Amino acid sequence: MPHTLDLQFLGRAGVIATAAIPCEGGVVLVDPGPTSCLPALTSALAAHGYGLADVRALLITHIHLDHAGASGTLAQAWPGLPVYVHAIGAKHLAQPEKLLASATRLYGADMNRLWGAFLAVPEVSLRPLQGGESLVVGGRTFSVTYTPGHAVHHVSYLDTADRVAYVGDTAGIAVGGYSLAATPPPDIDIPRWEESLTAIAALAPASLFLTHFGLVADAAAYLSRYRDVLRRSAERARVAVRAGGDEAALSDAWVRWLRADARTVVGEDAAAALEAAAPFDQIWQGLARYWRKRVERDGAGALEVPLA
Ligand SMILES: [Zn+2]
Repeated sequence: MPHTLDLQFLGRAGVIATAAIPCEGGVVLVDPGPTSCLPALTSALAAHGYGLADVRALLITHIHLDHAGASGTLAQAWPGLPVYVHAIGAKHLAQPEKLLASATRLYGADMNRLWGAFLAVPEVSLRPLQGGESLVVGGRTFSVTYTPGHAVHHVSYLDTADRVAYVGDTAGIAVGGYSLAATPPPDIDIPRWEESLTAIAALAPASLFLTHFGLVADAAAYLSRYRDVLRRSAERARVAVRAGGDEAALSDAWVRWLRADARTVVGEDAAAALEAAAPFDQIWQGLARYWRKRVERDGAGALEVPLA
């Protein structure tokens, strides 16, 4: 079973988790997190008897900075360290300019404080994936499934021995018994996301590892609950976009609702961890953009049809 390494993002527990999977000769990391968390990653590994030099491979679910930010720093420090990532994401890890420009639109002047440096991953380290592969890393076998929805280049990994599925953000964020759908701009896609949930369920995982946050037992029950969370969120956004109005007011109303909704289930600390993992205004922005793109494609009628 994996170790759950808490990266203590912005000094807060329970926001970003890296999975450390013991293997022959060391450890495999799923999503090493941002460079700003490298000191925490290092000490969390040390608590389990490993150093960064023991890392045999990085399995990247997707290239958002909270998941993959430190990949280049690690791959440059340990030449030849294999970095598995979807082919679309691999291009951006090799040449991060566009990825960083897109992230800067979301985070502005806060980029460095949140994420630290983002170095390119050398080509020699990159192992581009499409989904459907079977990887053998340090004597462990992982099957790769393409799971778009949260991001167009998202993949999930199933460890075929203990049947833990490493699903990144595909199964959302779950802290203290409250789940929310992580729907930042720019490329969330609700129908494809639901197909990805079906694909993960079809793997029959025993448990799920969520980046935000940690292992979830009883994967099947969680996945079916999470599908409802995703739909409820997307439906609420559809109705709000259809009603229209001032964008800042729509965003504020969304943030107020989500803050209150989370607090019906969890206390202040968990609610703050949820919001640190996925700023609530970005959750709104991604959903609003998704529905407005649907209107551009299918006409205003796209907002009249509830999700099936
Ligand atoms: Zn994330």
